[in-house]
Formats: sequence, structure tokens, C-alpha cells
Amino acid sequence: MDQERSEISQLGEFGLINRISNNFKLTNTSSVVGIGDDAAVIDAGLDFMLVSTDMLVEGIHFDLSYSPIQHVGYKAVAVNVSDIAAMNGKAEQITVSIAISSRFSIEAIDALYQGIQSACTNYGVDLVGGDTTSSTSGLVISITAVGRVPKDKVVYRNGAKPNDILCVTGDLGAAFLGLQVLEREKQVFMEDPNMQPDLEKYEYLVGRLLKAEARTDIVSELLDAGVKPTSMIDLSDGLASDIFHVSRASGVGFRIYDDKIPIDTAAYETAIEFKLDPLTCALNGGEDYELMFTINKEDQEKIKNHPDIHFIGYAHERKDENVLVTKQGNIVPLRAQGWDHFRS
Ligand code: ADP
Ligand code: MG
Repeated sequence: MDQERSEISQLGEFGLINRISNNFKLTNTSSVVGIGDDAAVIDAGLDFMLVSTDMLVEGIHFDLSYSPIQHVGYKAVAVNVSDIAAMNGKAEQITVSIAISSRFSIEAIDALYQGIQSACTNYGVDLVGGDTTSSTSGLVISITAVGRVPKDKVVYRNGAKPNDILCVTGDLGAAFLGLQVLEREKQVFMEDPNMQPDLEKYEYLVGRLLKAEARTDIVSELLDAGVKPTSMIDLSDGLASDIFHVSRASGVGFRIYDDKIPIDTAAYETAIEFKLDPLTCALNGGEDYELMFTINKEDQEKIKNHPDIHFIGYAHERKDENVLVTKQGNIVPLRAQGWDHFRS
């Protein structure tokens, strides 16, 4: 009889992670939180230590035909620092593991590490180790970040309470539109290599994709303002998908307002040019690496004038009701369609 074979695509990325985590229990008292948040939380005595890993794979997460390799190095660090920031912590060390094929020259690897170094300097983290191996094709970069947070300052995905205000930083959807622009230019170039791409108009969008930054500034500004979020996550999968993560973890639902969702003018105009709905790009685009957090209503006053923090909605008791309220007053259920590599 044929052995049974089930496709991973039936589960999706998050189903697969759940399946893995169900089979593992934490046994050490120092393992405070394991799988399921932006970073693992480890009791390190006075403080909590935070550990997060992210892997970037050529052809899945980046395309070297339009991503300068030093930007790939920078981003690989930034996305890990972002996960530590999402726990309200500060990254202090990273390890970097790479798998490279013979396609890559010493100069290319130098450039990759220039990007890594520039991110280390920018975020104040030290490169303390890693691993180097060969791959049959393409480049794989896996980075682990280690960070720290005082025990009373750690913020999880699971702390949102009914009536908390939902906040996002920066603007959303721009990285996704930057990707659309680059993919289009790549197609044009492949059809006619004499065509030179004109990216000036799209500089902001392309920059948002290729030069992602972690919002470590927000973590310290919230601390200075005396605001400890009740829950937090970094926006990697897309606003809608990440709302579901916090909703599920916290046992609350969210109501968000379409006219409160921050969309940059360039993103708005480019979405229209691509015949895409700007709001859908902001809800489902992903890769923004902004922070999304909830705060106690009483704290809203303390950050209400912050130019880069937007109040987009609130939490309520009905955990299965995650909805978007339109300007016309229509209520539309949110759908989580983040970037799911297993389904694409
Ligand atoms: P993020 O987008 O914040 O980086 P992920 O969606 O990648 O988070 O991961 C969600 C959680 O699942 C994290 O706690 C992560 O450590 C864990 N995780 C992801 N893949 C695996 C795996 N293969 N084995 C164990 N844990 C995993
Ligand atoms: Mg994250």
C-alpha cells in the first residue's frame, strides 16, 4: 500500500508551526515563553532575554536581480531586530548563518556583510557568531537576534483587553507596492534589455521594501512617554493577518476604521496605477515592519500628538469579530491573506 502523503500546503505556514509546537512542551523553568510570539522569552536573572530567528531565502524573500546584496544583509538584521522590538526589548547580539553557492564571489559576500555591519552599527548590536556552509543554488541567510528587556516591561501578543486602542506606526502597503514596481520593471527589462527602469518616482516605495527598518525608535519613545503597550507585534505578514495573530493570542476582536489606516501618497497613487485597491494593499501587503500595539485608553493622551503613531481602531470582547468599518458605515469582516509562501 502506498504510504500516506499529506501536502504542507493543506496546513499553511501557521498550521505547520502549530503542529510542530503542539508536540513540544517547555521543561526548563528558565523557558518563560516558547513558540508563538515574536521572540522567545528566557529568564536570565534580572532581565528577560529575548531570542528571535528569521531566515531569508533567495527567490522567496529576495531577488538579487533588483535587490543590491548589501541591502539584503541590512534587511536580514533589521527584521530580527524588529521582532525583538515587538517584545518591547532591545537587540544586543546577532549570529549570522549563510549558505552560498559558487555563483557568489568574495566581493558579493563582502557586500552582504557591509550591509550586515551597517545594520549592526545602526541598531547597536554585535555580531557574535554564525555558520558558513555551501548550497546547491542560491543564497540563504539565517539570523538569530538576542535581546533584553526588563521583566516588568516585556510586551506579548496576548495582553490586549477590550476597549484598548489599536495603534500602528508609520504607513502601510508601501513595501508591497515597491515589490510590484520592481517586478514590473524586471519584466520590462527581460523583454527588452535596452529599457532602463525609471524608478525615481517610486523611490520611497522601493526603499520601503529593500531598506526595511526596525522601529526601535518607537520602543524608546513609548518608554519616555510612560506608555507600556498591552500587546504588540511587528507587521511582517500584513495588517489583517497580524491583527488575527493578536486577536487569537489575546482573546479579543478588533474593529478598525478604513479612514484611519495610514497610507503614503506615493503608495496610494501607485496602487491606483496598478489597478489595485490602496486599502487592500495596506491591509494585506506585508513586509512593512512597522509596529502594531494596543494601549490602555488612559494612555492615549500621552501619545496623541506623536506624528508617527496612528490610532486605527479598538479591541472588543467578541474575539471572532475582526472587522473593518468603512467611511460609509459598512462593516466588512477582515480576511487574513498575508504572504503565505506555502500557498503561493
Ligand atoms: P515572525 O513573523 O514574528 O518572525 P513567525 O510567524 O515566523 O514570526 O513565527 C511565529 C512563531 O513560530 C515564533 O515564535 C517562531 O519562533 C515560531 N516558529 C516558526 N517556525 C518554527 C519552526 N520551524 N520550529 C519551531 N518554531 C517555529
Ligand atoms: Mg514578528
